[in-house]
Amino acid sequence: MQKELELVAVTKRYGATVAVDAISHHFRPGGYACLLGPSGCGKSSTLRMIAGHESVSDGSILLGGSDISHLPPAKRGTAMMFQNYALFPHLSVAENVGFSLKMKGVEVAERRTKAGEMLELVDLSALADRMPDQLSGGQQQRVALARALITRPQVLLLDEPLSALDPFLRIRMRGELRKLQRELGISFLHVTHGQDEALALADEIVVMNNAVIEQAGPARDVFNAPKTAFVAQFMGGHNVIALPDGPFAIRADDVRLTASDAGELQGRVTAIEYQGMHVAVSARIAGDQDVVAMVPDNTFFENPQNPGDAIGLTWDQSKLHRLTA
Ligand code: ADP
Repeated sequence: MQKELELVAVTKRYGATVAVDAISHHFRPGGYACLLGPSGCGKSSTLRMIAGHESVSDGSILLGGSDISHLPPAKRGTAMMFQNYALFPHLSVAENVGFSLKMKGVEVAERRTKAGEMLELVDLSALADRMPDQLSGGQQQRVALARALITRPQVLLLDEPLSALDPFLRIRMRGELRKLQRELGISFLHVTHGQDEALALADEIVVMNNAVIEQAGPARDVFNAPKTAFVAQFMGGHNVIALPDGPFAIRADDVRLTASDAGELQGRVTAIEYQGMHVAVSARIAGDQDVVAMVPDNTFFENPQNPGDAIGLTWDQSKLHRLTA
């Protein structure tokens, strides 16, 4: 039975800076959650408090109903995988993976067996005797994963785990992380500032901004039904438009072009950008607002527009989404 991780009014202060401001959240046991937000919004501080690498200024962290806020990292049932992997350069792959067992006094033969099982899990059995500097970035990352998982955590905490990889490897490792999480069935909590990464990986996205949780929910809900202008803009793919009755979001691929005297809004094309499957048409409307329409490439080239052209913009009313701020 998986234990539930719960944050109760968790706060982190560094002197006068409030890095995390009384956030509360239940993470679904056995799920893949991403903490998403811009740099400095408090994601890493939150993760480090859960791991026990940073003290909690106020509030509590519960795992399976017990308060773990004041336990040392190794006693919490969590394990952390760091951004730079933090492998020991003078230990072999197998020794790195078995390190936490050594600290617990587990004898060498058992350590070797357990490390071997973990290396198999991450598909690195053949490299058990290599040193970290003889591994590629992707392989080092898998060693770091195996090293975190050997402690059999309830919750695996991952701090920007893909940011050190090149784009190609990042997409491959993203798939591997997701697969591993499904196989193990334990909760993963992954910090990222990349919305595409969060959308690709997460069952649940928790968007942070300015030390608080701005919105949390299933990935599709957060993307399709952003509650605030911040979430709409940060998740991308949306226009935020101030209309007479308030601020609204509409997905750029739900905006259609129409004749200049028709549609919901009228404007002038400011830029055309070919993106392969779509053409991004930017238009300036009244009030100096910019709206982007993602037009399927075939549709666009049937009736191409140019910068300076007057156009109308239209959409299905059901796609327009009211924002609270
Ligand atoms: P994120 O992970 O979202 O980039 P952080 O949790 O690292 O955000 O930081 C949140 C805020 O706390 C930032 O304003 C940052 O400058 C500040 N901060 C983080 N760590 C420390 C620290 N050790 N001492 C002082 N301020 C810190």
